[in-house]
Amino acid sequence: MSVIERNKPSLTRALGRVNVIGVAVALVISSVVLLVYEAVSLRAALADNAGLEAAMVAENMSAPLLFNDAEVASEVLTHLGSLPYVESVAVFDAKGRRFARYAQPGLSEKEQNEGTEAAAQEHVRLSFKDVIVAVPVVQGGARVGTVVLVATTGGMKSEFTRYACFLFLASACALWIASLVMSRTKARVIEAERRLEYYALTDPLTDLPNRRAFYDELAHCLRPSAGVLPQVTLVLIDLDDFKTVNDTLGHGAGDELLRAVAHTLRGTVRQRDIVSRIGGDEFAVLATSDTDRSQSRGTAEKIVRSLGRSFELEGTMVPVTVSVGFSRFPDDAGDIASLVSSADIALYAAKSGGKNLAFEFRPKMTAEAQRRALLERDLREAIERDRLDIAYQPQFDCRTGQLVGVEALARWNHPVQGDVSPAEFVPIAESSELILSLGQWILNRACRDAVRWNRDASAPVSVSVNVSARQLRHHSFGADVLATLEESGLRPELLELELTESLLMANLTAAVEVMRTLRARGVRLSIDDFGTGYSSLSYLQSFPLNQLKIDRSFVKALPHSGQPIVTAIISMAHSFGLTVVAEGVEYPAQLAWLCDSGCDYIQGYLTGRPMTFAALMDALNEEREHVLASERTEPAGPVS
Ligand code: C2E
Ligand code: CA
Ligand code: CA
Repeated sequence: MSVIERNKPSLTRALGRVNVIGVAVALVISSVVLLVYEAVSLRAALADNAGLEAAMVAENMSAPLLFNDAEVASEVLTHLGSLPYVESVAVFDAKGRRFARYAQPGLSEKEQNEGTEAAAQEHVRLSFKDVIVAVPVVQGGARVGTVVLVATTGGMKSEFTRYACFLFLASACALWIASLVMSRTKARVIEAERRLEYYALTDPLTDLPNRRAFYDELAHCLRPSAGVLPQVTLVLIDLDDFKTVNDTLGHGAGDELLRAVAHTLRGTVRQRDIVSRIGGDEFAVLATSDTDRSQSRGTAEKIVRSLGRSFELEGTMVPVTVSVGFSRFPDDAGDIASLVSSADIALYAAKSGGKNLAFEFRPKMTAEAQRRALLERDLREAIERDRLDIAYQPQFDCRTGQLVGVEALARWNHPVQGDVSPAEFVPIAESSELILSLGQWILNRACRDAVRWNRDASAPVSVSVNVSARQLRHHSFGADVLATLEESGLRPELLELELTESLLMANLTAAVEVMRTLRARGVRLSIDDFGTGYSSLSYLQSFPLNQLKIDRSFVKALPHSGQPIVTAIISMAHSFGLTVVAEGVEYPAQLAWLCDSGCDYIQGYLTGRPMTFAALMDALNEEREHVLASERTEPAGPVS
C-alpha cells in the first residue's frame, strides 16, 4: 500500500456526518418552534371567534333575560348548532343561575355543564383543552346576566395535525436536499483533498513519489513486523553531468531524460520495490526483497546497466551515465538518517570513482566522508586567509632547451594533516562553489607572480592555469579572467588556460563563447590530459585552441610502446596549427624520443619538479646567466 493510499481523507467523511446531524437538529428545533407558534395562533383565533360569537349571543339575550323568557333564549341558542366549534352555550342571570343552555348532542352530562363563569376565568395560551369564554349581558349599563360559550378544539386539533404533517414532510424534503447537496460537496472536497495529497507526495514530472513520500515510505518500511527487523536496501542514483544535458539541449530534453530514467528504473526493479525522485537528478529505490548483500549488489548493478546507455532525447541520441550508491538496513545503519547518509556516502564514492559505477557502503567510507567534510571546511578558511600556495612546474622548448612556461599547481599545507594533494582537495572544491574562489585565488596569484618573474627575464615565460568545469560554466568566468589580467598587468599572451576535454564537451555552447572572447584578447588555450577523454577530433577545428597537452599515461609507456598514438597526436595537432606539450616526462629516453618526434614542449620531473616561486626565480636567474654565458660562446641547442 502506497503512502497516498494510506493517507485517505477520513476527516471529510466525519465532517459530512456531523453536518447532516446538525441540519437535522436545526430542522427539529425550527419545527418545534413553528408547531408551538401554530398551536398558540390556532387557539387565539378560536378564542377570538368564540368571544365574538358569545358577544353576539349576549346582545340578543338582554330581552329574554328581562322578560324571563327562557324559551326565546333557547331558540336563539339553538342557532348556534350550525357552528361546529360551539360545544355548548349557557346563559346565566344576574344572580348566577342558569337561565338557558345549548349543548351539542351526544355530550356527557359533565361536558354539558363545563361552561361556567369560573371556568371562563382560566386563560391558557397553549393547550388543546376546550376554550371557555364569558361575555356579560348588559342592559342600560347594568349587567343582567352572562353568556358562557365553550368552544371545542377538535377543529383546531385537525388543523394542527395537518400543519404538523406538512411541516414534517417539508423538513424531510429539506433534510434530503441538504444531505444530497452535502454529499456532492463532500465528494468534491474529497477529490480536492486527494489531489492535494497527490501533489504533496508526487513528483509531477515523473509521476513518482517525491522526497517527502520517499521518507514516509522509508519510515514505514523500516518498522519491525512481529518483532523482526525488515531487510531494506536503499539505492541512490545520480545522473552524471545532467546539467550538461540541460545546458546544451535545453530544459525540455532534460525533462524528457528524467521521465525516461524514471520509466526505465520502474521497469528495472521489482514490482514491490519503491522508486522515487528525491531531487533534481537524484532517484532512490527502496528494495525490500533483497535478502542479502549480493542481491542488493545485483540490484544496484542492474540499475547501472539499464541507465548507463544512450537515450533518445528530442531526436538526438544522448549518452547517459549514472553513479549508484547503496546501503542496507539493518547491517549498515540502524535508523533512517544513517541509512540515507551511508547510501549517500557510497554514492559520493561512486561519483568520485568515475562513471557508471555502483558502490556499496563500507564503514571506512564514513571516515573518508568525515575527512572530506573537514577538508572542505578548512579549505574554505585556507582560501579566505590566503593560506594556499602555488608550485610552478617548468616547461621547456624542445628545440632551444629554453624555459618557456610554467604550470601553476595548487598546494595546500594543512596545519594538522600536512601536505594535502590537489588530486584530493581540488575534487572536494569542485563538488561545491568553493572551486570558484579557489580558481580565482590561483589565477590572481599566478598572474601577479608571472608579472614579477617576467619583469627582468631575457625571454617571456608564460603561466598555465588549470580551469575546472564549474569555473568555465560560471557566467562571469571570461570577465573575471580579463579583469585579473588587467589588475595584475600581465600580458594576455603570457596566460594559458588548461581545459580538459571532458570539460569542453560538457560545456559546449558556453565554452566556445568564453573561449572566443578570451582568444580574441590574446589569452592562450590548451587542452589538458589529451587523449583520455572524448577525443573527438572535430572540436580541434571548432575550438579556438593553441595547444594540446599529451596525457602522462601515454608518455609513461614511451619509448617502448605507445609511439603510434603519440606520433599521431603530434602530427594531427600540427596539421591543425596547434603546438604540443608532453607532460610527465621522467626519463631521458622519453625526452629524446619526444623531441625527435617533433613534440614542441616538455614538462616533467626529469626537467623540473613543481617548485616554489622563490625556487623558480632562482632557476630563471640561473638560466638567464646560462643563456648570457652561452650567447657569448655558442648558439643554443636542444635539451638533453
Ligand atoms: P594536472 O593538471 O594533470 O597536473 C599535472 C600533475 O602531474 C601535477 O600533479 C604534477 O605535479 C604531476 N607531474 C608533473 N610531472 C610529473 C612527472 O614527471 N611524473 C609524475 N608522476 N607526475 C608529474 P599535482 O600537482 O598533484 O596535481 C594534480 C592535479 O590536480 C592536476 O593534474 C590538476 O588536475 C589538479 N590541480 C592542481 N592544481 C590545480 C588548480 O589550481 N586548479 C585546478 N582546477 N586543478 C588543479
Ligand atoms: Ca594541468
Ligand atoms: Ca594533465
